Amino acid sequence: MCGIVGFTGAEQAAPILLEGLRRLEYRGYDSAGLAVENGGRITVVKASVPVTKEDSSLITLTRRTDDGKNVPGTCGISHTRWATHGAPTDYNSHPHMSCDGRFAIVHNGIIENYVTLRQELVEKGYEFASETDSEVVAHLLEMYYEGDFKAAVMKTVARLEGAYALGIVCSEHPGTLYAVRMASPLILGAGKGENFFASDVTALVSHTRNVIYLEDGEFACLTPESITVYAPDGAEVEKQISVVEWDVETASKGGYEHFMLKEIMEQPKAIKNAIDPRLKGSEIVFEDMSLTDEDIKNIDRIIITACGSASYAGQVGRYVIEKLCRIPVSVELASELRYSDPIITDRTLLIVISQSGETADTKAALEECKARGAKVLGIINVVGSSIARLCNDVLYNWAGPEIAVATTKGYTTQVALLYMFAVYAAKVRGTIDREEYATCVDAIKALPEQAQRAVDINPDVAKTAKKYYDQEHIFFIGRNIDYAVSLEGSLKLKEISYLHSEAYPAGELKHGPIALINDGRLVVALCCYDELFDKMLSNIKEVRARGARVLAVAAEGDDRVLSEADDVIRVPAAHELFGAIGEVVPLQLFAYYVARENGCSIDKPKNLAKSVTVE
Ligand code: GLU
Repeated sequence: MCGIVGFTGAEQAAPILLEGLRRLEYRGYDSAGLAVENGGRITVVKASVPVTKEDSSLITLTRRTDDGKNVPGTCGISHTRWATHGAPTDYNSHPHMSCDGRFAIVHNGIIENYVTLRQELVEKGYEFASETDSEVVAHLLEMYYEGDFKAAVMKTVARLEGAYALGIVCSEHPGTLYAVRMASPLILGAGKGENFFASDVTALVSHTRNVIYLEDGEFACLTPESITVYAPDGAEVEKQISVVEWDVETASKGGYEHFMLKEIMEQPKAIKNAIDPRLKGSEIVFEDMSLTDEDIKNIDRIIITACGSASYAGQVGRYVIEKLCRIPVSVELASELRYSDPIITDRTLLIVISQSGETADTKAALEECKARGAKVLGIINVVGSSIARLCNDVLYNWAGPEIAVATTKGYTTQVALLYMFAVYAAKVRGTIDREEYATCVDAIKALPEQAQRAVDINPDVAKTAKKYYDQEHIFFIGRNIDYAVSLEGSLKLKEISYLHSEAYPAGELKHGPIALINDGRLVVALCCYDELFDKMLSNIKEVRARGARVLAVAAEGDDRVLSEADDVIRVPAAHELFGAIGEVVPLQLFAYYVARENGCSIDKPKNLAKSVTVE
């Protein structure tokens, strides 16, 4: 959520800051601003036009600054805000200034003790220009400043509680920036004669691929020639430079109309990247895994925790792990688990799933369970992210950067890795024999092909979407793994097309939701889980009897449902336990085309953010 970019070097800062903010747009925001230091003066420009289909506050900021050209200076900070405290207006937009005009700050996160701090500062005569929690930081800096920039930063940070990534510029220290990280993402970029900070690497790859990951509590001083990182106590810390492997091309649309469509089409490759390095011949191999065979045999309960789509990937994982490993699995939403006084023993395995590796609730749930003795396995896409660094073991998705807010390849690679873990653990625990293991491994090897085929056999999904794009309420139903997939299919539609959509286990219909089925209502019925096909057919008949139109999701070649369906989406034939990816891909496409038909902002849906770094 929100984006921060800082730059100090020899070139004009504002155009570089704007370009960086544009690359972070996918994170979601409602206003934008920048501050540039020039010859001992700081200029601030802000814009807060709500994101519409056509325009955004960043476009307004770009216009107001003539693409950065009319803001001179070579050192500055910038911000896209996702408002938490105070409406998205110009005066609440960042950067915020101290009263004496010496400091400008940008902040991502929430300062939890801002009410007390604000009261203290007001009593001392500091005047506030915004309703934000963030502004206290600018005034604290002024209060503690006695000529030493670093000392003022340390004293200020010592007063803050909550989550914050901060970028700070001071008019009395030309060319110098401070960056602070506590529970909100912030990385540093090392260039030649220029240095950067940003919320993530996407903002920097066009300038440098050399990055430094900050730990929580660390802060850094940047000049054009140097980066110095400090521990919270002010002592210098030696940091390693990591080289980012992907480039700016990987983070651009590559000819597709939207990042989402590009990412849907990239799934065969992304899944291949996730699974291939972990397959040695016919064996699943997790290199450097600290979880021993003994540990795996000892597990008596698995908790999968995540938010949103990642939790739905977890729902697929739950069915497969329980079936293959015979370990009880529960999927807990991280925002609930963190406050639920969780019951954990040393035989509990916690699997945390997060594309960004920065999801605030997931991180907090992890910390809560780890402190109580759980072993933690992460399934995470962003290498070096906060959550990844807290896990005992991480299976990285290696899916490449995911830019569209609504996840696609993030989700399917999570599912692929859960499959791999399930099969691996089942073998270790002896709950499947050699032959079953080989069959499962073959099914996993076929996943990239399955994702591709799911696209190839559904050439008419855009036409189907055109037929149903104006529905007000849509129901998804399924049983077992089909139900798990229907949760994701429904969420995808809701997220990007703003249509009201709900997913239900088909057997649950009669316990309430069927009251809402009436003439013309669209029901998307997933009928791929063969064992329960007949049950599904009965549920389809029930909704049809009440006037519903049925869009069936059925395996290729399986025509049993045709007589009961108005339309059909086809799913590649697959092993019963490993078909979710082929099933979800056409549902992603369906959601995409419905949203397109409705003229929605597909890559950046309103109110949503890619990386949810506040709880
Ligand atoms: N809490 C701050 C605000 O509402 C920062 C929000 C953000 O992370 O963008 O301004």
